[in-house]
Amino acid sequence: MKVVIDREKCFMSGECYYNHPELFKMGEEGYPEILIEDVTDEEHLRHAREAIEVCPAVAISLTE
Ligand code: SF4
Repeated sequence: MKVVIDREKCFMSGECYYNHPELFKMGEEGYPEILIEDVTDEEHLRHAREAIEVCPAVAISLTE
């Protein structure tokens, strides 16, 4: 599955890259960058779902 970040919604609060540095890092201008494009590992998927739950902007999603 792929992690997608909607930059239009993201307001750079940083929860995703502070809580899950294996999946995200702070990129240009404070927007998160995704480090693992195709997430297949179960633990990574669990962390991606956690990031989706805590993102205050509802900017993160998983797609096939
Ligand atoms: S947690 Fe959400 S709003 Fe905050 S930086 Fe990550 S994607 Fe953007």
